Amino acid sequence: MSDDTKQAYAVSLGCPRNRVDTEKMLSALDSLGFESTLVPEDADLILVNTCAFLGSAVKESIETILELAENKKHKCKALVVTGCFPARYKNELLKRELPEVDLFLDPSQEDMLAELVRLKSRELSPKRDVSRKTGRMLTTPAGSAYLRVSDGCNRQCSFCIIPKLRGMQKSRPIEEILLEAKDLVSKGVVEINLVAQDLSAYGRDLQGGRTCLADLLVELDKVKGLEWIRCMYLYPSGIDDQLIDVISKMSRIAPYLDVPIQHVSSTVLKAMKRGYGYNRVESLIKKLRHRLPRFNLRTTVMVGHPGETGKDFEELLSFIQRVRFEHLGAFRFSPEQEASAFFLEGRPTAGESYNRWRRIMAVQRKIARSKQRSYIGREVDVLITGQADESTMLNTGRHSGQAPDVDGRVYVRLWEESPNQLEVGRIYRVKIEKAMDYDLLGVALEGR
Ligand code: SF4
Repeated sequence: MSDDTKQAYAVSLGCPRNRVDTEKMLSALDSLGFESTLVPEDADLILVNTCAFLGSAVKESIETILELAENKKHKCKALVVTGCFPARYKNELLKRELPEVDLFLDPSQEDMLAELVRLKSRELSPKRDVSRKTGRMLTTPAGSAYLRVSDGCNRQCSFCIIPKLRGMQKSRPIEEILLEAKDLVSKGVVEINLVAQDLSAYGRDLQGGRTCLADLLVELDKVKGLEWIRCMYLYPSGIDDQLIDVISKMSRIAPYLDVPIQHVSSTVLKAMKRGYGYNRVESLIKKLRHRLPRFNLRTTVMVGHPGETGKDFEELLSFIQRVRFEHLGAFRFSPEQEASAFFLEGRPTAGESYNRWRRIMAVQRKIARSKQRSYIGREVDVLITGQADESTMLNTGRHSGQAPDVDGRVYVRLWEESPNQLEVGRIYRVKIEKAMDYDLLGVALEGR
């Protein structure tokens, strides 16, 4: 690397959708001549792509910005903050409160990053120029990538400020997504994880009110080289029979659906403005279990929403015990001033919320443990994602029923006679030998 090479360091906070934006911005910076570095002290430019969905995320964003701002005393010439934090708070306020930051960009301005960086600082002047919107610099382990199909959301869930931060849904045309999927495959990607704020509503803004996730999946299923296509964030009432039919016939679908139900009590769901009630959730889950029996179901639930009584909570807990989701994330309601639930009466106390959350997590841990045990002795395909921190003899990976970042993992040891290490980004046949609460341990039999 020559001495005048500029270096950029990026941090991506929050959800996978943010990570896709970070990857695009890294690619734009690359086209300006910036090398990517993992060491903030070496960076000429530091990018913090923030999350501000909840108060706790805002706090993390501010702490990260202030910590990285220390580098401005040394080599760093520009600190750029993007994402939901500048979208949530007014630019002027941020400039006043965080003078360390050179540039704030909300999500609608992120495409302009390269151009603004170029204009903003002579010291950071590019060696190459940006003439068009660039691609992505993948930051996920080899073999796996997120693919964002739309941004924004048209729903009005009481607890959520995402529509205020990211605007109305904007879907990308199918052709553009297919091109990106093919490009990812050409870079060695075998697993794509489809993300959106509301994946089941994909295309509604493109086709005069008709969603077209099913059409997109049919086309993606034809992309040679893809092994696992995974659907994240399917809104419960957006899953119809046509979508289930298509999924059941796909050859490259990962046997996994992420369906955030949030609650089952009709009273709480009404207060949450989710647009469905208990019967709809129950019949959907029954249908998914019946039509897609091999599938792992993931869900997210929220406790402590205003109006949630002890009885509502028990209804949710007993539903979770009956359905036995393979993966479940539980969250406590967080009052955000811009969300309509902030003004609702009947908020359970912090102690009640915490106890409810704890009880759900304890129940789910038992369910997860027994689900993991059922894998012992079975052979599964595992995508190798890296080396385990615990031992150089162990790799980490995921089977097709585990999503990146949110679910458990499979630790994989080499088979005795193997002369080689396992290759990151490749799928191996693995025999499962041991099960922990959320993770598995197995031996690699051979590469596929
Ligand atoms: S579906 Fe609801 S929770 Fe999800 S992003 Fe849209 S408004 Fe927020």
